[in-house]
Amino acid sequence: MAQLDEKLEGIYQDVLKRNPGEVEFHQAVQEVLESLGPVISKNPEYLERKIIERLCEPERQIIFRVPWQDDKGQVHINRGFRVEFNSALGPYKGGLRFHPSVYLGIIKFLGFEQIFKNSLTGMPIGGGKGGSDFDPKGKSDDEIMRFCQSFMTELYRHLGEHTDVPAGDIGVGGREIGYMFGQYKRITNRWEAGVLTGKGLKWGGSLVRPEATGYGATYFINEALKVRKNSFEGKTCLVSGSGNVAIYTIEKIHQLGGKCVACSDSNGIIVHEKGLDIGLIKQLKEVERRRIADYAAYHKDAKYIPGGNIWEVPCQVAMPSATQNEINGKDAATLVKNGCTAVGEGANMPTTPEGIKVFMEAKIAYGPGKACNAGGVATSALEMQQNAQRDSWSFEETEKKLENIMKGIHKLCYTISDEYGDPGNYVLGANIGGFIKVADAMVAHGLI
Ligand code: NDP
Repeated sequence: MAQLDEKLEGIYQDVLKRNPGEVEFHQAVQEVLESLGPVISKNPEYLERKIIERLCEPERQIIFRVPWQDDKGQVHINRGFRVEFNSALGPYKGGLRFHPSVYLGIIKFLGFEQIFKNSLTGMPIGGGKGGSDFDPKGKSDDEIMRFCQSFMTELYRHLGEHTDVPAGDIGVGGREIGYMFGQYKRITNRWEAGVLTGKGLKWGGSLVRPEATGYGATYFINEALKVRKNSFEGKTCLVSGSGNVAIYTIEKIHQLGGKCVACSDSNGIIVHEKGLDIGLIKQLKEVERRRIADYAAYHKDAKYIPGGNIWEVPCQVAMPSATQNEINGKDAATLVKNGCTAVGEGANMPTTPEGIKVFMEAKIAYGPGKACNAGGVATSALEMQQNAQRDSWSFEETEKKLENIMKGIHKLCYTISDEYGDPGNYVLGANIGGFIKVADAMVAHGLI
């Protein structure tokens, strides 16, 4: 990775000291600071006003107890988080993650990235993130409902359409948003559509929101391929994960003429050389809430490999869409060796710093998460617009808006990377492009 500018090194050391043990947060901060050297040389005002130090310190961090009862009447205690990171551009906006690995460091890395991502969308949204170490796997609908109700019984007081607007992330989809919306409505006695996004279509949700992150990531990489006079047509692709982002990434890759041959979950991988059957994956995962291992029972020519490493399957385009740090330096080297020429991050921070270095040196088209997966939050902002207008747009109209937003993000990142002397370096473009708008808004708002 690039060296830190000496003025930024001190700021980074301070972040390490002030946030001990939060390794994912450190990683996310380091990756952004590595891009900002040329920006602070041009605009010393950002340093004088301590914009970067202020950006690295969340405006507010809320940690709370979430007690709930399982179906046998046993009591469980989880921990809930909401980190309201930065509101320079709009109300805090970012998803809720329910996964046993969640702790403050994960929520802070996600919230920090969200600031720049939301800025890149060009929409009026600040950055935040939340969640819990609750594990939804194997829980009944009633248990999920009781947990969501207890979670919202604390969180509601911090939310509002002009204050903080959560959405989904790992382990939080339409079902969970529904239970949380219901509890918010019950406690506040307000039918306030703009308080959560990812809502059901019959009660304030937006068409294309479920598809948005995966479709958007694929659009971003399609633009990056176009710059290289290339396309998805005929490309063999890999998509890790088999959740919301993965499913709609696979779907859009197929629509654009690519062939996705493998996907995964935390237990193993499915390889289907003929091309994945997306209808079956949707049925298994979205309708029946089953595991990807079951796919092989329906297609005899598909192979399930328990504990397999998806990045060892040869491909031309890889779209990591599961979780953070899922591609390490060795995986990145394997991908490049096998002929991969584009990597688009549907997940947040899925590539380790060593992996990013491999992609940069190989000069492949590498779309970092904060640019590539911004279609989800952008469509959440479209949901907020529809709620504010008490309107709902057609699928075609909403998808066209998403496509244009992703083209716009790609163009912005490319233009900035060119301006700063490294055309096609989307890490540089996304970090600088996301930063400048937030920094200028913070300067305009004075010392707060
Ligand atoms: P889902 O919960 O729908 O799916 C997550 C998928 O990733 C599952 O297949 C899950 O497998 C797998 N996974 C999760 N953790 C691990 C792990 N530690 N090791 C291996 N596999 C894992 O989540 P989403 O699809 O919504 O989110 C996926 C990624 O996309 C996350 O990084 C999220 O932050 C990011 N993202 C999501 C957005 C959205 O709109 N939903 C927006 C922008 C980014 P298993 O079932 O075995 O756990």
